[in-house]
Amino acid sequence: MHRILILGGTLEARRLAERLRGRADVAITVSLAGRTAAPAAQPVPVRIGGFGGAEGLAAYLRAERIAALIDATHPYAATISDNAARAAAVAGVRLLALRRSPWQQTARDRWTEVADVPAGVRALGSAPRRVFLALGRKELGPFVSAPQHHYLVRSVDPVDPPLAVPHAVYVTGRGPFTEAEDRALLERHGIDLIVAKNSGGAATYGKIAAARALHLPVILLRRPALPAVAAVATVEEALAWLDHATSAAARGV
Ligand code: NAP
Repeated sequence: MHRILILGGTLEARRLAERLRGRADVAITVSLAGRTAAPAAQPVPVRIGGFGGAEGLAAYLRAERIAALIDATHPYAATISDNAARAAAVAGVRLLALRRSPWQQTARDRWTEVADVPAGVRALGSAPRRVFLALGRKELGPFVSAPQHHYLVRSVDPVDPPLAVPHAVYVTGRGPFTEAEDRALLERHGIDLIVAKNSGGAATYGKIAAARALHLPVILLRRPALPAVAAVATVEEALAWLDHATSAAARGV
């Protein structure tokens, strides 16, 4: 029985766990940061909360005799991915990153890439706009420096306290979101610009497709640099890697 730790918080992590559930040769644990009040149910045992940096994660890997670590965290969760790379190296544990490929711009998309959230705020310009913020709650702070805009904010949990701006509307929701749903949301709120991350995957692509259909500009935050480790883009590839890793471990390689 090989003990596998999946660093999760994404749809891919949950799907991978679903595919591994019930297999006799592996024991799976999914780790969540504990950011959301009611995380999506997982098909395997879950542990919740930070490890205490790379050292804490390395200690966990050793104590739990983890044979393989799969970093299936969100592509913008750079700190935990760095920690995973360092901890796996220190503890001598095989590591795979499962990272969604970024969305690719088409000729009909009006995208502007910016380095970070403050650059995204500046890119809104000084004239008032109606902006859909498809960002995490902890990324919203810099928008208070541009109170002239109307904001529509969508997050998994309510934004509490709300942003200190005069015009903001909040909706809560957990993806996946379809193009039709997102198009209706954008039209209902008269949105003329979107700020988002290039998360990749299908679950949050609805707003990108809807923006294309409505000819709306999209400001995309650049992906953070991630550690150079073995990486795949799909759950299928992660399963193949795991089969290889567990058979190598069984042979003592
Ligand atoms: P982050 O900045 O890379 O990580 C900050 C700290 O949170 C880490 O140092 C670690 O604490 C803890 N942590 C993060 N992911 C963890 C996990 N899966 N299990 C245990 N501890 C974890 O991460 P983030 O951007 O705040 O994202 C937090 C979680 O939300 C991730 O699991 C990610 O997959 C998910 N998520 C993030 C985004 C996003 O846009 N960033 C979007 C959707 C989902 P210690 O140092 O104490 O171990």
